[in-house]
Amino acid sequence: ESSAFKLTYATMFNPPEELHTRFEEALKDKKNHLGEEHAMFIDGKDVKTDEKFNDISPVDTDVVLGVFQKGGSETANQAIAAAKKAFPGWSHTPWEKRIELLRKAASLMDERIYEFGAVMAMEVGKNRTEALGDAAETADLIRYACDQVEAHKGFVYEMGHDPLVGYKADNISVLRPYGVWLVISPFNFPCALTGGPAGAALAAGNTIVMKPASDTPWTARLLAECFRDAGLPAGVFNYVTGGGSTLGQALIEHPDVAGVTFTGSYDVGMKLYRDFAAGQWVRPAILELGGKNPVIVTRHADLETATVGIIRSAFGLQGQKCSAGSRIYIEEQIYDALVARLVDATNKLTIGDPTDRKITLGPVINKKSYNDFQNFVDDLRHSGKILTGGKILTDGALAKGYFCAPTLVENLPYTHKLWKHEMFLPISTIGKVKNLDEAIQHANNVSYGLTAGIYGNDDEIATFFDRIEAGVNYANRPQGATTGAWPGFQPFGGWKGSGSSGKNAGGLYYVQLYMHEQIRTRIR
Ligand code: GLU
Repeated sequence: ESSAFKLTYATMFNPPEELHTRFEEALKDKKNHLGEEHAMFIDGKDVKTDEKFNDISPVDTDVVLGVFQKGGSETANQAIAAAKKAFPGWSHTPWEKRIELLRKAASLMDERIYEFGAVMAMEVGKNRTEALGDAAETADLIRYACDQVEAHKGFVYEMGHDPLVGYKADNISVLRPYGVWLVISPFNFPCALTGGPAGAALAAGNTIVMKPASDTPWTARLLAECFRDAGLPAGVFNYVTGGGSTLGQALIEHPDVAGVTFTGSYDVGMKLYRDFAAGQWVRPAILELGGKNPVIVTRHADLETATVGIIRSAFGLQGQKCSAGSRIYIEEQIYDALVARLVDATNKLTIGDPTDRKITLGPVINKKSYNDFQNFVDDLRHSGKILTGGKILTDGALAKGYFCAPTLVENLPYTHKLWKHEMFLPISTIGKVKNLDEAIQHANNVSYGLTAGIYGNDDEIATFFDRIEAGVNYANRPQGATTGAWPGFQPFGGWKGSGSSGKNAGGLYYVQLYMHEQIRTRIR
């Protein structure tokens, strides 16, 4: 099957007509399969448990997307045992062969991209281009990790010879995989944040157990099928489903796990980090946690570009990105003009069933997020001024799902906790600043440091890049003030409370995180 175009970052912002027809075909097909049961995949086989759970669509909570297995500690033991058994074989498979299989998995994802897109639109509530983008990004993340292994020829380097009298020593540095690696991923990028780390861990030679969020098991099942169909040997990757406090906790506490990649909230991540550290030795934990990402707009900014970029980053995926632009600092000279534009652009957003072509914003993920939204806006209404939004949406079919109006707030005192707390919802707070210096101080005055954006002139941008404390930073970008990183171009990861590795995913130093160094010295 050939695709007339390759879905890339560029096509997401300017989708050709074929994207729409193919998405719609895939959606129709997937809708014929709603409510079916899906197995886990352990040791090369489909595995079921006695207990099940329903995967509910946030678009319409009457729709059961599928029935999934509710794994617990027994599932954890089984999957880890399978991965442990497969490790010697996989880690000794030549890297050329490993990346060949993983590149095959990435092409299978490309081939099935519309299926992924349709499932994510229904399961996460992503609009179609964002849903397709998530899948396209995953395949690129896997390929990027493979390219790195290839570029470094498997990370085997000859070091210098020791100047020892009477001897000659050959010294070699080899990066080798750790063992069984866990990938625990969130609902918001169920494909990229599962498949990306999984791809890197596997390319490095680890075997993996991946546990997706309970809100998005279906997307991860498709991913598991691509790894399976690419021909990865039994046990090399295992896909398990179940709750975080049961299955997730059992995985984390298992002594045979060598490392973990977790993407999710700060609170859950820090608990996981401590629990993981309670194991018998120091084990690597790659944590990608939250964000409270600032956007700064100076009086020299192009207001049209700033408006487009801010709205995309504040409200894309209903603000449920750790990269979302949730704090907007505007210089006083242009404050009123820009705020008027932002309110106007927000009011033009279309909200509804995200499988519909016209829709930009879908629902928030679940009942908890829906309730959180209502509590936050109650607080914001008292403490600040809601410029637009501030309510749940219940007209007609919207009453069936978790729809919230995108919300902009001003006049919130800088001491208020919601300037610092990640809400993970379509809510952004706007503040007036005297100058760039004040804006940067506010920007850095949080525990997070994931992404940041600025709209301004060259000098301001240079100052911003020098002083901002964040892993991914954008200047004058219409595609998103703080969102929309792409592997190989904007490797993604954070500083401070946003992440532990200090090396960004889809970047030059990422796959190395999944390997430890071994030095081989031999006297001749
Ligand atoms: N990589 C995504 C972006 O740049 C964000 C990932 C996330 O929110 O977890 O927008």
